[in-house]
Amino acid sequence: MTSTDSTSTAPWLADFYRDLHRHPELSYQETRTAERIAAKLGELGIDVTSGIGGTGVVGLVRNGDGPTVLLRADMDALPVEEKTGLPYASTAHATDPDGIDVPVAHACGHDMHVTCLLGALEVLVGEQASWSGTVMAVFQPAEELGSGSQAMVDDGLFERFGSPDVVLGQHVAPLPAGMLAAHPGAAFAGADSLRVLLHGVGSHGSMPEQSVDPVVMAAATVMRLQTVVSRTVSATDTVVVTVGSLQAGAKANVIPDRAELALNIRTYDPDVRTGVLATITRIVEAEAQASNAPRKPEITPIDSFPVLVNDADAVARTTAAFRARFGDENVIDPGPGAASEDVGVFATASGAPICYWILGGADPAIFAKAKAEGKAPDLPPNHSPYYAPVIEPTITTGVSALITAAREWLD
Ligand SMILES: [Zn+2]
Ligand SMILES: [Zn+2]
Repeated sequence: MTSTDSTSTAPWLADFYRDLHRHPELSYQETRTAERIAAKLGELGIDVTSGIGGTGVVGLVRNGDGPTVLLRADMDALPVEEKTGLPYASTAHATDPDGIDVPVAHACGHDMHVTCLLGALEVLVGEQASWSGTVMAVFQPAEELGSGSQAMVDDGLFERFGSPDVVLGQHVAPLPAGMLAAHPGAAFAGADSLRVLLHGVGSHGSMPEQSVDPVVMAAATVMRLQTVVSRTVSATDTVVVTVGSLQAGAKANVIPDRAELALNIRTYDPDVRTGVLATITRIVEAEAQASNAPRKPEITPIDSFPVLVNDADAVARTTAAFRARFGDENVIDPGPGAASEDVGVFATASGAPICYWILGGADPAIFAKAKAEGKAPDLPPNHSPYYAPVIEPTITTGVSALITAAREWLD
């Protein structure tokens, strides 16, 4: 083990993590989290700017000529009731955007991302004599809505703080703690959720000839949407189209005047995504026209996560540094994942390559035991009420991975 490890396991990190975990905040409500981050950056002597894209925080370490490395951590938690039973489990509640009181938990592990980035910054600041360039630490709001990174970009992130030469970051997941995983190319799925409002003409249930029945229109639309994947997408492309919600009418003998669908679409290729969204729009509009709808359907995006495309060269360069630091056996290519992430916006908006990797956060003993029993490890995934990473060696590995990656790209 190197000197980096003794620094990165500084006791304040675990305490800081437990504090964040106990005090999760919903997307765009991360004010306490942002304040704690800004205070710690100030303590470390780092230039801080708060309130970017809502609650976003940027810490800038300018250390002479050289590349600018953007290190990203997201800050938000989820409307989930934590059931981990941990002594530092969240009991927090908050009001969601619909005005509803909801439980809140760091069920996606973003508190771990924040903690590791602060730990890495402490070490990088201490090691300034041995590197040059700029470290841009980006603490992002609202990853769970898929819009926080875009909000920071729209708020002038790159105009105000400069453009990065590379975007680096990590997401904790149930791989064995101590392991890192990165996939070159499309690494996280693009996800789009749409609301579709179909307009019909209401009538008495006994007089369908005087109606434009939105229930039949919706049913035909749902069935025709099943042909998007089966008839318009190549066998070598991966796409999911799900109609997760279908609402219309309230009574057996009343034909309603509207129906509402909610769709979720997953894609791995930006061109395929564009094609699939166009096909869906065409089908929805054509079915409405076939039904003689009085108005065109309204298609409204609920949220949108672009495909996260890891730069192949950036992944090769960063994972080579990981292998040298952590050993070949601790660095894997997990293949493309079905989850979604909005970190790629920082790369596409700045034109910089990105390497975004998975940080193992599960107890390695659980994997060893499952392997000995010839079973798959039974571990809750991110977003589960039971999800929480083990504190160590996750923090030590996460801090060290960020330092290793940043040092690889800095002069
Ligand atoms: Zn999440
Ligand atoms: Zn997440």
